[in-house]
Amino acid sequence: MSCKQQLVILGATGSIGTSTLDVIARNPSQFEVFALTAGENAKSMAQLCLEHHPVFAVMASDNAAEQLKQHLSGTACKTIIRSGTESMSELAAHPSVDAVMSAIVGAAGLIPTLSAVEAGKKVLLANKESLVMSGQLFIDKVKQHKATLLPIDSEHNAIFQCLPGALQGSKTNAKLAEHGVSKILLTGSGGPFLTRDINTLSTVTVAEAVAHPNWSMGQKISVDSATMMNKGLEFIEAKWLFNCVANDIEVVIHPQSIIHSMVQYQDGSVLAQMGNPDMRTPIAHALAYPQRIDAGVKPLDFSDISDFTFTKPDFARYPNLKLAITACEAGQGATTTVNAANEVAVAAFLKGKIKFTDIYRVNAQTLDATADVNVHTLDEILACDKLAREQAVQQIRKVQC
Ligand code: NDP
Repeated sequence: MSCKQQLVILGATGSIGTSTLDVIARNPSQFEVFALTAGENAKSMAQLCLEHHPVFAVMASDNAAEQLKQHLSGTACKTIIRSGTESMSELAAHPSVDAVMSAIVGAAGLIPTLSAVEAGKKVLLANKESLVMSGQLFIDKVKQHKATLLPIDSEHNAIFQCLPGALQGSKTNAKLAEHGVSKILLTGSGGPFLTRDINTLSTVTVAEAVAHPNWSMGQKISVDSATMMNKGLEFIEAKWLFNCVANDIEVVIHPQSIIHSMVQYQDGSVLAQMGNPDMRTPIAHALAYPQRIDAGVKPLDFSDISDFTFTKPDFARYPNLKLAITACEAGQGATTTVNAANEVAVAAFLKGKIKFTDIYRVNAQTLDATADVNVHTLDEILACDKLAREQAVQQIRKVQC
């Protein structure tokens, strides 16, 4: 029996998935890949199977699994190939598995991530959408099944590192103020349109929207960063991860992305976590926690940093951020709705069906149309998500007219 940590990477072919595999490859004595999962990209998955030799590889559809088999036929690869969400969930809960990287993009990540939680695994959470759409239910399950939840989002990982030990992790019901914390300062770069004339935002192209100035990421989160819906989703994520309310969190624009977030204490101290903008740092932190391992990240050289600036977010430029904060205050039905609408709207923008500024219109109008839904159980969450998607499709038709 190997004493290496056995890992499942949900969303292995993506930006977070490949960064995770890079960190693992740098630390072969500590980690082993048990299973990799992906959506439809069989070619990339074949490459990963040949490099990392997982016991299992799971594709979202039968068709993609068949393609993966063809790519690997004639090679020495012994990976067992499966398909579907059920297989992903089964492997995320497999008794041989120690930790699960949750890095599928969007709501598709919810069910396999919950499966890992219910099996009491160490869950490394990049897929913020699953927590945004199911908040209380997700956190209750973490506590009930004694799972360990570690944040991968660089901001939440930074906050985690700056919090007192007693508040690290979501197994506690302790309030921030009981441990001397007065505020969580959630930083964000402002994305590619921080200084662009607001009147020209309706003409933003897909290429402009996905060109983040500091981070290299998947398409959906890149667009979310440009609208700052990403910061809004992170705001909601922070509420659940750190057992706090909207008033405890403040968004600060820090265009250089060197400080990844901060915690302010009642005595006036502010603790910040810093580093070059490279997701391998939070991934390595969570993989090895509470130890530290090599992440392959260039050390920060302060003599290279010419500017270090901070401002408040402008909600006229970033109405999606304001919308998400309002949803966070309103409750679960609203956050599930905003998350679903945004996923549909961003997909439509990426396909050239709506304008960049229409993303907000679709999100806001969907929230207006559906927010009053009562959402507690998984079935209610999934029904709310479905309803919001249908509404968002209708709103897209309206803005196209
Ligand atoms: P990518 O788009 O790069 O990768 C997404 C992954 O999910 C791919 O492996 C993709 O497979 C898989 N996938 C897509 N749809 C499905 C589906 N229906 N079923 C199963 N798997 C699917 O995204 P990122 O890596 O950028 O982001 C992943 C998550 O991490 C997101 O929730 C994001 O918000 C979060 N995150 C990302 C950061 C980053 O720096 N990238 C930073 C912080 C958080 P395939 O390749 O086959 O399509």
